[in-house]
Amino acid sequence: MSQQETIIGIDLGTTNSCAAFVDGYKDGVPNVKLIPYKGGEYTIPSIFAVDDKGNELIGYEAKRQWQLNPKNTIYGSKRLVGRSATSDIVETMKKVVQYGVKPSYDNKEVTIEVAKKEMTLQEVAARILNKIRDVASNYLKVPVNKAVVTVPAYFSDRQRQSVKDAGKLIGLEVVRIINEPTSAALAYGVGKTLNQKVCIYDLGGGTFDVSIIEIRNQVFEVKATGGDIFLGGIDFDNAMIHYVLTEFQSKTGIDLSTDPVAMQRIKDLAERTKIDLSSREEAPFNIPFITMTPQGQPLNIEMKFTRKLLEKLTVELVDRTLKIVAKVLVESGLSTRDLDEVMLVGGQTRMPVVQERLTKFFSKPPSKGVHPDEAVAIGAALYAFSLSDDTNLKLQLLDVIPMAIGLEKADGQMHQVFPRNSPIPNAKQITGTTSVNNQSELIMRIWQGDHEKANENEQLGEFTFSGIRQGPAGNVKVEITFDVNVEGILTMTARDPDTGKDMKTTVRVTQS
Ligand code: AMP
Repeated sequence: MSQQETIIGIDLGTTNSCAAFVDGYKDGVPNVKLIPYKGGEYTIPSIFAVDDKGNELIGYEAKRQWQLNPKNTIYGSKRLVGRSATSDIVETMKKVVQYGVKPSYDNKEVTIEVAKKEMTLQEVAARILNKIRDVASNYLKVPVNKAVVTVPAYFSDRQRQSVKDAGKLIGLEVVRIINEPTSAALAYGVGKTLNQKVCIYDLGGGTFDVSIIEIRNQVFEVKATGGDIFLGGIDFDNAMIHYVLTEFQSKTGIDLSTDPVAMQRIKDLAERTKIDLSSREEAPFNIPFITMTPQGQPLNIEMKFTRKLLEKLTVELVDRTLKIVAKVLVESGLSTRDLDEVMLVGGQTRMPVVQERLTKFFSKPPSKGVHPDEAVAIGAALYAFSLSDDTNLKLQLLDVIPMAIGLEKADGQMHQVFPRNSPIPNAKQITGTTSVNNQSELIMRIWQGDHEKANENEQLGEFTFSGIRQGPAGNVKVEITFDVNVEGILTMTARDPDTGKDMKTTVRVTQS
């Protein structure tokens, strides 16, 4: 394969990102290599910051100064990408991050504030993608202009579109978006001759995804998928932070939650302690000089965490993941006995209780068939390789949409055009008629989500079809086509079925 055309695979994670590529064949199978950063780590923190001199920092450089500069250090931004400013998720995020989160000037989407400047989430994602691209270009010694990028299976159309737009901002063509669990299944199945049904349980830094996938040699068919875009390692950290703050306040009467630097120190230690507790039963939780009494006396945090306490504080989070697994399994039409393997993806699956609960649920231990941190990038690289010119690797991905897509009816209820788990690509047509004489346009609001009330879901846009033929009410037809592509992205078109003439379609995103 000529290096000029290398399409890399990028796992754009909530906490860490990772990139990989295929370097030809080895022993008849594609030889996947992870791209190292400065010769060492294979992951780059998905963090963007601006320091007090106005320099932009990305990755480790941004993470290093996080404690001292929490207001201008943007982490976990993937959770906000493609969200409208009024979304509940944005409200929750505002409470746990130290940086400013607010509606954009046109109130369409959410933006963040860094170094007193407003930035869109696409711009933040573009900075992180650019860093990964630079690292890859340096390593491969050729410019990298194309990538396959993974997203959580539970990402909506708008979130997928935002990732593509982020690529456009830096001239990186996102040739294909694929779902993270599907990508992990590729890492497991490519190069083997398998006929298996697998469950991919992906609990990363910010999101939880589960997919039931049937692998038939090089065909990867997703039977059902589900998840929670707001459930990941960060929530385990937050449960610990909440506990520490409550204990400290009950002892000293001081609320540390309003002190950004103290919060950052607690956040850092909470994550490190959580990770430690995956390999030991207890760990100290000490932070010297966290604050001062009104009299100027320094105060320390001196506590201890046990694995049992961590498990108690986070049991509800693990329960939530298992409820989703049970639901997705029912939707796939399979039972636990039908599954050949349960695969763990995402750093948070290293927590022993997660593995114990899954072992109980499936009556067998999870497989060690894929590397939890690397599988997603490896799968993306394999898929990227299958798209390149000189390859024998032919992969077929049959994926589904994670949430229903539909339109708002006159009574505000959602009419599902595509139910959840509909296979993609997929197209459907509906035909409407004009309701007033000489109606020239038709407006339709489109939503994604499983709630029966349309405005409880995420709005994908308000589509206006204009140039309708003049005629009496009820006499002119409008045929609307909903087209969801292989990436789970919707486009809408309309035509007059009597004349065959296409209508003009414009879209805008409004608030519910
Ligand atoms: P990922 O998005 O897959 O990189 O997952 C990162 C998440 O996994 C972060 O929330 C980490 O704190 C968490 N994590 C990483 N290693 C461990 C570990 N050994 N035990 C528990 N959580 C971990």
